[in-house]
Amino acid sequence: MKLIKSELNKNTKGENDLIDITEEVRRLVRESKVRDGFALIFVIGSTASIITMEYEPGLIRDIKELFERLAPYDENYAHNQTWGDDNGHSHLRASIFGQSFSAPIENGELIIGTWQQIVLAEFDHRPRQRRVVVQIYGE
Ligand code: ZN
Repeated sequence: MKLIKSELNKNTKGENDLIDITEEVRRLVRESKVRDGFALIFVIGSTASIITMEYEPGLIRDIKELFERLAPYDENYAHNQTWGDDNGHSHLRASIFGQSFSAPIENGELIIGTWQQIVLAEFDHRPRQRRVVVQIYGE
């Protein structure tokens, strides 16, 4: 068994920016030469998530509306009052969707669906630099 550690650095535009990182993760899996195992994809921070979705314009719009329904921007969040912040909604969205995704690797390829992209979701209201850690484990 071996563990290969890498990192993707992404500049986001803030507020619900969705960045498809599937091809970059696939490339890391190929370069790792791991035949069987799994990959963990993790974003560092409490206002961003790693999700999977079909990355097409209709669903991109739908999921952004879902974010707004689940944790609307202009509610009266205790976090905003405590810190003079205005990203209470960002933290809540990130808590709901989580910071990691993992998928199996078989015959040297990540096993995900054709319409299942791996997406970095930025929930903070301002542009951010995000570190996405990719760890590949297997043999
Ligand atoms: Zn905050």
